[in-house]
Amino acid sequence: MPIEMPDVLVVGLGPAGSRAAAVAAAAGLGVIALERRQTAGTPAQCAEFVPEPIERDVPAARTVTTQTVTRMLTFIEDGPPEVTADFRGLMIDRAAFDRMLAQEAALNGAECRYGETVLSIDRDGTVRTSADGSLRPRVLIGADGPRSRVGWAIGAINRDLVETRQVSAPLVLPHDATDIFLSADFRGGYGWLFPKGAVANVGLGVASAARGLLKPLLAALCSELARQRRIGTRVFALTGGAIPVGGRLRSVGRLGPTAVLLAGDAAGLTNPVTGAGIAAAVQSGTLAGRAAADFVGGAAAALDDYEEELGDIFDAALGRALRRRREVLAHYAVGRRPDARALRDGWIASPHYWAA
Ligand SMILES: Cc1cc2nc3c(=O)[nH]c(=O)nc-3n(C[C@H](O)[C@H](O)[C@H](O)COP(=O)(O)OP(=O)(O)OC[C@H]3O[C@@H](n4cnc5c(N)ncnc54)[C@H](O)[C@@H]3O)c2cc1C
Repeated sequence: MPIEMPDVLVVGLGPAGSRAAAVAAAAGLGVIALERRQTAGTPAQCAEFVPEPIERDVPAARTVTTQTVTRMLTFIEDGPPEVTADFRGLMIDRAAFDRMLAQEAALNGAECRYGETVLSIDRDGTVRTSADGSLRPRVLIGADGPRSRVGWAIGAINRDLVETRQVSAPLVLPHDATDIFLSADFRGGYGWLFPKGAVANVGLGVASAARGLLKPLLAALCSELARQRRIGTRVFALTGGAIPVGGRLRSVGRLGPTAVLLAGDAAGLTNPVTGAGIAAAVQSGTLAGRAAADFVGGAAAALDDYEEELGDIFDAALGRALRRRREVLAHYAVGRRPDARALRDGWIASPHYWAA
Protein backbone atom coordinates (compact mmCIF):
# COMPACT_ATOMS: atom_id res chain seq x y z
CA MET A 1 0.00 0.00 0.00
CA PRO A 2 1.43 3.45 -0.84
CA ILE A 3 2.33 5.69 2.05
CA GLU A 4 -0.33 8.33 2.75
CA MET A 5 0.85 11.84 3.57
CA PRO A 6 -2.03 13.87 5.04
CA ASP A 7 -1.48 17.31 6.54
CA VAL A 8 -2.80 16.01 9.85
CA LEU A 9 -3.29 12.54 11.30
CA VAL A 10 -5.41 12.38 14.44
CA VAL A 11 -5.22 9.20 16.50
CA GLY A 12 -8.40 8.60 18.50
CA LEU A 13 -11.91 9.96 18.04
CA GLY A 14 -12.77 10.73 21.66
CA PRO A 15 -13.66 14.34 22.50
CA ALA A 16 -10.06 15.55 22.08
CA GLY A 17 -9.45 13.88 18.72
CA SER A 18 -12.83 14.72 17.23
CA ARG A 19 -12.46 18.34 18.17
CA ALA A 20 -8.89 18.51 16.83
CA ALA A 21 -9.97 16.87 13.56
CA ALA A 22 -12.98 19.19 13.22
CA VAL A 23 -10.95 22.36 13.75
CA ALA A 24 -8.05 21.33 11.50
CA ALA A 25 -10.42 20.24 8.71
CA ALA A 26 -12.44 23.45 9.02
CA ALA A 27 -9.19 25.34 8.43
CA GLY A 28 -8.87 23.57 5.08
CA LEU A 29 -6.25 20.95 5.99
CA GLY A 30 -6.31 17.37 4.75
CA VAL A 31 -7.16 15.41 7.88
CA ILE A 32 -7.32 11.67 8.50
CA ALA A 33 -8.57 10.45 11.88
CA LEU A 34 -8.16 6.84 13.00
CA GLU A 35 -10.30 5.25 15.71
CA ARG A 36 -9.79 1.66 16.81
CA ARG A 37 -13.42 1.28 17.87
CA GLN A 38 -16.18 0.63 15.36
CA THR A 39 -18.13 3.68 16.56
CA ALA A 40 -17.02 6.79 18.44
CA GLY A 41 -17.89 6.69 22.13
CA THR A 42 -19.05 3.07 22.36
CA PRO A 43 -18.75 1.42 24.80
CA ALA A 44 -18.81 4.49 27.07
CA GLN A 45 -16.22 4.41 29.85
CA CYS A 46 -17.48 7.36 31.80
CA ALA A 47 -19.55 8.59 34.78
CA GLU A 48 -21.00 11.13 32.30
CA PHE A 49 -20.95 14.33 34.37
CA VAL A 50 -19.75 17.61 32.91
CA PRO A 51 -19.87 21.01 34.60
CA GLU A 52 -22.26 23.48 32.98
CA PRO A 53 -19.57 25.62 31.29
CA ILE A 54 -19.09 22.76 28.79
CA GLU A 55 -21.81 24.55 26.80
CA ARG A 56 -19.33 27.30 25.97
CA ASP A 57 -17.24 24.77 24.04
CA VAL A 58 -20.00 22.40 22.98
CA PRO A 59 -23.17 24.49 22.55
CA ALA A 60 -25.21 21.40 21.60
CA ALA A 61 -24.28 19.52 24.80
CA ARG A 62 -27.86 19.77 26.09
CA THR A 63 -29.14 17.82 23.12
CA VAL A 64 -27.34 14.76 24.51
CA THR A 65 -28.14 15.45 28.18
CA THR A 66 -30.06 12.87 30.21
CA GLN A 67 -30.62 15.15 33.20
CA THR A 68 -29.18 18.20 34.92
CA VAL A 69 -27.52 18.33 38.33
CA THR A 70 -27.60 21.29 40.71
CA ARG A 71 -25.70 20.19 43.83
CA MET A 72 -22.90 17.98 45.07
CA LEU A 73 -23.25 15.84 48.20
CA THR A 74 -20.01 14.70 49.82
CA PHE A 75 -20.25 11.67 52.12
CA ILE A 76 -17.15 11.18 54.25
CA GLU A 77 -16.84 7.69 55.76
CA ASP A 78 -20.15 7.10 57.59
CA GLY A 79 -20.93 10.77 58.25
CA PRO A 80 -23.95 12.72 56.98
CA PRO A 81 -23.59 14.35 53.56
CA GLU A 82 -22.06 17.78 53.23
CA VAL A 83 -23.94 19.83 50.67
CA THR A 84 -22.30 21.99 48.03
CA ALA A 85 -25.11 24.11 46.64
CA ASP A 86 -24.90 25.51 43.13
CA PHE A 87 -22.67 22.80 41.73
CA ARG A 88 -24.30 22.72 38.34
CA GLY A 89 -23.70 20.36 35.52
CA LEU A 90 -25.08 18.07 32.87
CA MET A 91 -25.32 14.32 32.86
CA ILE A 92 -24.61 13.54 29.24
CA ASP A 93 -25.17 10.43 27.22
CA ARG A 94 -21.43 10.03 26.68
CA ALA A 95 -21.72 7.73 23.68
CA ALA A 96 -24.05 10.22 21.94
CA PHE A 97 -21.77 13.12 22.95
CA ASP A 98 -18.71 11.48 21.39
CA ARG A 99 -20.68 10.50 18.30
CA MET A 100 -21.89 14.07 17.89
CA LEU A 101 -18.34 15.44 18.04
CA ALA A 102 -17.06 12.81 15.60
CA GLN A 103 -19.88 13.67 13.18
CA GLU A 104 -18.84 17.32 13.37
CA ALA A 105 -15.30 16.32 12.37
CA ALA A 106 -16.60 14.33 9.40
CA LEU A 107 -18.96 17.13 8.34
CA ASN A 108 -16.01 19.53 8.35
CA GLY A 109 -14.22 17.25 5.92
CA ALA A 110 -12.03 15.01 8.10
CA GLU A 111 -11.75 11.45 6.82
CA CYS A 112 -12.73 9.43 9.90
CA ARG A 113 -11.81 5.76 9.73
CA TYR A 114 -13.22 3.36 12.31
CA GLY A 115 -11.91 -0.04 13.30
CA GLU A 116 -8.37 1.02 12.39
CA THR A 117 -5.80 0.91 15.18
CA VAL A 118 -2.42 2.58 15.23
CA LEU A 119 0.01 -0.25 15.93
CA SER A 120 3.38 1.48 15.82
CA ILE A 121 5.01 4.80 15.17
CA ASP A 122 8.52 4.97 13.74
CA ARG A 123 11.12 7.56 14.68
CA ASP A 124 10.72 9.23 11.30
CA GLY A 125 7.00 9.81 11.98
CA THR A 126 5.66 6.90 9.93
CA VAL A 127 2.51 5.52 11.50
CA ARG A 128 1.52 1.91 10.84
CA THR A 129 -2.01 0.67 11.31
CA SER A 130 -4.00 -2.53 11.68
CA ALA A 131 -5.36 -2.05 8.13
CA ASP A 132 -1.80 -2.39 6.79
CA GLY A 133 -1.75 1.37 6.31
CA SER A 134 1.36 3.54 6.49
CA LEU A 135 0.94 7.24 6.99
CA ARG A 136 3.47 10.03 7.33
CA PRO A 137 1.61 13.20 8.29
CA ARG A 138 3.03 16.70 8.67
CA VAL A 139 1.31 16.89 12.06
CA LEU A 140 0.44 13.89 14.21
CA ILE A 141 -2.10 14.58 16.96
CA GLY A 142 -2.17 12.02 19.75
CA ALA A 143 -5.68 12.02 21.20
CA ASP A 144 -5.54 8.33 22.02
CA GLY A 145 -6.34 8.43 25.70
CA PRO A 146 -4.49 7.66 28.94
CA ARG A 147 -2.22 4.98 27.48
CA SER A 148 -1.38 6.97 24.39
CA ARG A 149 0.80 5.26 21.81
CA VAL A 150 1.62 8.64 20.29
CA GLY A 151 2.69 9.88 23.72
CA TRP A 152 4.98 6.85 24.10
CA ALA A 153 6.59 7.66 20.78
CA ILE A 154 7.73 11.07 22.06
CA GLY A 155 8.44 9.92 25.63
CA ALA A 156 5.40 11.59 27.20
CA ILE A 157 3.86 8.82 29.29
CA ASN A 158 1.09 8.91 31.89
CA ARG A 159 2.77 6.92 34.66
CA ASP A 160 0.33 7.65 37.46
CA LEU A 161 -3.11 6.17 36.82
CA VAL A 162 -6.29 5.61 38.78
CA GLU A 163 -8.22 2.49 37.84
CA THR A 164 -12.00 2.54 37.91
CA ARG A 165 -15.00 0.25 37.90
CA GLN A 166 -18.59 1.38 37.41
CA VAL A 167 -22.04 -0.13 37.16
CA SER A 168 -25.26 1.41 35.91
CA ALA A 169 -28.13 0.41 38.18
CA PRO A 170 -31.77 1.44 38.75
CA LEU A 171 -32.08 4.68 40.73
CA VAL A 172 -34.98 4.28 43.13
CA LEU A 173 -35.84 7.98 43.57
CA PRO A 174 -35.07 10.94 41.29
CA HIS A 175 -31.93 12.77 42.41
CA ASP A 176 -30.47 16.18 41.51
CA ALA A 177 -26.96 15.88 42.93
CA THR A 178 -23.67 14.18 42.21
CA ASP A 179 -22.87 12.09 45.29
CA ILE A 180 -19.24 11.64 46.23
CA PHE A 181 -18.08 8.98 48.70
CA LEU A 182 -14.75 9.59 50.42
CA SER A 183 -13.19 6.84 52.47
CA ALA A 184 -9.72 5.80 53.52
CA ASP A 185 -10.59 2.46 51.93
CA PHE A 186 -10.71 4.15 48.51
CA ARG A 187 -6.98 4.75 48.37
CA GLY A 188 -6.07 7.48 45.92
CA GLY A 189 -9.64 7.77 44.63
CA TYR A 190 -13.30 8.01 45.60
CA GLY A 191 -16.72 6.54 44.99
CA TRP A 192 -19.61 8.19 43.15
CA LEU A 193 -23.29 7.98 42.40
CA PHE A 194 -24.31 10.16 39.47
CA PRO A 195 -28.00 10.20 38.50
CA LYS A 196 -29.38 10.00 35.00
CA GLY A 197 -33.15 9.83 35.28
CA ALA A 198 -34.20 6.39 36.44
CA VAL A 199 -30.62 5.06 36.31
CA ALA A 200 -27.50 5.82 38.34
CA ASN A 201 -23.85 5.46 37.46
CA VAL A 202 -22.24 4.06 40.59
CA GLY A 203 -18.51 3.72 40.50
CA LEU A 204 -15.21 3.79 42.24
CA GLY A 205 -11.64 4.71 41.44
CA VAL A 206 -8.47 3.76 43.31
CA ALA A 207 -4.75 4.19 42.70
CA SER A 208 -3.61 1.51 40.27
CA ALA A 209 -1.56 -0.26 42.98
CA ALA A 210 -4.85 -0.97 44.80
CA ARG A 211 -6.77 -2.06 41.69
CA GLY A 212 -7.22 -5.58 43.07
CA LEU A 213 -9.62 -4.10 45.63
CA LEU A 214 -11.89 -2.40 43.08
CA LYS A 215 -14.35 -5.24 42.65
CA PRO A 216 -15.04 -5.94 46.35
CA LEU A 217 -15.07 -2.24 47.22
CA LEU A 218 -17.62 -1.43 44.51
CA ALA A 219 -19.72 -4.44 45.48
CA ALA A 220 -19.74 -3.18 49.09
CA LEU A 221 -20.67 0.37 48.02
CA CYS A 222 -23.50 -0.95 45.85
CA SER A 223 -24.88 -3.22 48.57
CA GLU A 224 -24.84 -0.34 51.05
CA LEU A 225 -26.70 1.90 48.57
CA ALA A 226 -29.18 -0.93 47.89
CA ARG A 227 -29.64 -1.44 51.64
CA GLN A 228 -30.47 2.28 51.90
CA ARG A 229 -32.95 1.71 49.03
CA ARG A 230 -31.20 4.25 46.85
CA ILE A 231 -30.41 1.86 44.00
CA GLY A 232 -31.76 -1.48 42.82
CA THR A 233 -29.68 -4.59 42.52
CA ARG A 234 -29.97 -5.06 38.74
CA VAL A 235 -26.88 -4.11 36.74
CA PHE A 236 -27.58 -2.63 33.31
CA ALA A 237 -23.97 -2.01 32.36
CA LEU A 238 -20.45 -2.52 33.69
CA THR A 239 -17.53 -0.39 32.63
CA GLY A 240 -14.24 1.02 33.84
CA GLY A 241 -10.93 2.28 32.61
CA ALA A 242 -7.84 4.20 33.51
CA ILE A 243 -7.66 7.87 34.43
CA PRO A 244 -4.32 9.72 34.31
CA VAL A 245 -3.69 11.52 37.59
CA GLY A 246 -0.03 12.51 37.35
CA GLY A 247 -0.60 15.94 35.82
CA ARG A 248 0.19 17.56 32.51
CA LEU A 249 2.81 16.03 30.24
CA ARG A 250 5.01 17.76 27.71
CA SER A 251 2.59 17.84 24.82
CA VAL A 252 4.75 18.75 21.85
CA GLY A 253 7.46 16.75 20.11
CA ARG A 254 9.04 15.83 16.81
CA LEU A 255 9.47 12.54 14.99
CA GLY A 256 11.71 13.28 12.04
CA PRO A 257 9.92 15.89 9.95
CA THR A 258 6.57 15.21 11.66
CA ALA A 259 5.35 17.59 14.36
CA VAL A 260 3.57 15.85 17.24
CA LEU A 261 0.91 17.29 19.54
CA LEU A 262 -0.88 15.54 22.39
CA ALA A 263 -4.38 16.44 23.59
CA GLY A 264 -6.84 15.33 26.26
CA ASP A 265 -5.95 12.33 28.44
CA ALA A 266 -2.91 11.67 26.25
CA ALA A 267 -1.56 15.02 27.46
CA GLY A 268 -2.38 14.22 31.12
CA LEU A 269 -5.04 16.93 31.38
CA THR A 270 -7.47 15.04 33.59
CA ASN A 271 -7.94 16.50 37.07
CA PRO A 272 -5.90 14.30 39.46
CA VAL A 273 -8.50 14.65 42.25
CA THR A 274 -11.86 14.54 40.45
CA GLY A 275 -10.82 12.53 37.40
CA ALA A 276 -12.78 14.94 35.21
CA GLY A 277 -11.31 15.21 31.74
CA ILE A 278 -14.04 15.71 29.15
CA ALA A 279 -13.97 19.50 29.15
CA ALA A 280 -10.17 19.55 29.07
CA ALA A 281 -10.20 17.10 26.16
CA VAL A 282 -12.54 19.33 24.15
CA GLN A 283 -10.54 22.47 24.94
CA SER A 284 -7.14 20.99 24.24
CA GLY A 285 -8.41 19.27 21.08
CA THR A 286 -9.65 22.60 19.79
CA LEU A 287 -6.27 24.20 20.49
CA ALA A 288 -4.38 21.30 18.94
CA GLY A 289 -6.45 21.55 15.76
CA ARG A 290 -5.71 25.27 15.56
CA ALA A 291 -2.01 24.79 16.26
CA ALA A 292 -1.83 22.15 13.52
CA ALA A 293 -3.48 24.55 11.06
CA ASP A 294 -1.10 27.37 12.00
CA PHE A 295 1.93 25.08 11.75
CA VAL A 296 0.99 23.74 8.33
CA GLY A 297 0.28 27.34 7.32
CA GLY A 298 3.90 28.20 8.07
CA ALA A 299 3.86 29.41 11.68
CA ALA A 300 6.82 27.48 13.11
CA ALA A 301 6.10 28.86 16.61
CA ALA A 302 2.63 27.25 16.66
CA LEU A 303 3.91 24.17 18.49
CA ASP A 304 5.57 26.06 21.32
CA ASP A 305 2.54 28.33 21.49
CA TYR A 306 0.34 25.27 21.95
CA GLU A 307 2.45 24.02 24.85
CA GLU A 308 2.36 27.46 26.43
CA GLU A 309 -1.40 27.81 26.01
CA LEU A 310 -1.99 24.45 27.68
CA GLY A 311 0.19 25.60 30.59
CA ASP A 312 -1.71 28.87 30.90
CA ILE A 313 -5.08 27.14 30.94
CA PHE A 314 -4.42 24.01 32.96
CA ASP A 315 -1.32 24.25 35.13
CA ALA A 316 -2.79 26.14 38.09
CA ALA A 317 -5.77 23.80 38.50
CA LEU A 318 -3.82 20.61 37.81
CA GLY A 319 -0.98 21.71 40.12
CA ARG A 320 -3.40 22.36 42.99
CA ALA A 321 -5.12 19.02 42.48
CA LEU A 322 -1.78 17.21 42.39
CA ARG A 323 -0.74 18.82 45.69
CA ARG A 324 -4.00 17.89 47.38
CA ARG A 325 -3.86 14.34 46.08
CA ARG A 326 -0.30 13.96 47.37
CA GLU A 327 -1.28 15.32 50.79
CA VAL A 328 -3.88 12.58 51.17
CA LEU A 329 -1.60 9.86 49.81
CA ALA A 330 1.19 10.95 52.19
CA HIS A 331 -0.86 9.45 55.06
CA TYR A 332 -0.71 5.97 53.55
CA ALA A 333 2.99 6.38 52.82
CA VAL A 334 3.71 6.54 56.57
CA GLY A 335 1.33 3.69 57.35
CA ARG A 336 -1.63 5.80 58.52
CA ARG A 337 -5.17 5.94 57.21
CA PRO A 338 -6.26 9.49 56.38
CA ASP A 339 -8.97 10.57 58.82
CA ALA A 340 -12.21 12.35 57.86
CA ARG A 341 -10.57 15.75 58.02
CA ALA A 342 -7.69 14.76 55.77
CA LEU A 343 -10.11 13.24 53.27
CA ARG A 344 -12.28 16.38 53.31
CA ASP A 345 -9.25 18.64 52.88
CA GLY A 346 -8.25 16.77 49.77
CA TRP A 347 -11.63 17.14 48.06
CA ILE A 348 -12.88 20.07 45.93
CA ALA A 349 -15.84 20.78 48.24
CA SER A 350 -13.49 21.82 51.07
CA PRO A 351 -12.30 25.43 51.54
CA HIS A 352 -8.87 23.95 52.40
CA TYR A 353 -8.67 22.49 48.91
CA TRP A 354 -8.79 26.00 47.47
CA ALA A 355 -6.45 27.58 50.06
CA ALA A 356 -2.94 28.55 48.93
C1 LIG B 1 -14.87 5.23 34.49
C2 LIG B 1 -14.54 6.65 34.09
C3 LIG B 1 -15.41 7.66 34.44
C4 LIG B 1 -15.14 8.98 34.03
N1 LIG B 1 -16.06 9.95 34.34
C5 LIG B 1 -15.87 11.21 33.90
C6 LIG B 1 -16.86 12.20 34.14
O1 LIG B 1 -17.93 11.95 34.70
N2 LIG B 1 -16.59 13.46 33.71
C7 LIG B 1 -15.42 13.79 33.07
O2 LIG B 1 -15.24 14.97 32.71
N3 LIG B 1 -14.48 12.85 32.84
C8 LIG B 1 -14.68 11.58 33.21
N4 LIG B 1 -13.74 10.62 32.95
C9 LIG B 1 -12.54 11.00 32.19
C10 LIG B 1 -12.90 11.19 30.72
O3 LIG B 1 -13.61 10.08 30.24
C11 LIG B 1 -11.62 11.40 29.89
O4 LIG B 1 -10.88 12.43 30.47
C12 LIG B 1 -11.96 11.73 28.43
O5 LIG B 1 -12.56 10.64 27.79
C13 LIG B 1 -10.69 12.13 27.68
O6 LIG B 1 -11.00 12.28 26.31
P1 LIG B 1 -9.89 11.96 25.21
O7 LIG B 1 -10.51 12.30 23.91
O8 LIG B 1 -8.62 12.57 25.61
O9 LIG B 1 -9.64 10.39 25.32
P2 LIG B 1 -10.65 9.18 25.12
O10 LIG B 1 -12.05 9.58 25.36
O11 LIG B 1 -10.09 8.07 25.92
O12 LIG B 1 -10.52 8.85 23.57
C14 LIG B 1 -9.38 8.22 23.07
C15 LIG B 1 -9.80 7.44 21.82
O13 LIG B 1 -8.64 6.94 21.21
C16 LIG B 1 -8.89 5.64 20.76
N5 LIG B 1 -7.60 4.96 20.64
C17 LIG B 1 -6.75 4.63 21.66
N6 LIG B 1 -5.64 4.05 21.18
C18 LIG B 1 -5.79 4.01 19.83
C19 LIG B 1 -4.97 3.50 18.78
N7 LIG B 1 -3.76 2.95 19.03
N8 LIG B 1 -5.43 3.61 17.50
C20 LIG B 1 -6.65 4.17 17.23
N9 LIG B 1 -7.46 4.65 18.21
C21 LIG B 1 -7.04 4.58 19.48
C22 LIG B 1 -9.81 5.03 21.82
O14 LIG B 1 -10.56 3.95 21.32
C23 LIG B 1 -10.67 6.24 22.17
O15 LIG B 1 -11.85 6.30 21.40
C24 LIG B 1 -13.96 9.29 33.33
C25 LIG B 1 -13.06 8.26 33.00
C26 LIG B 1 -13.35 6.95 33.36
C27 LIG B 1 -12.40 5.86 32.99
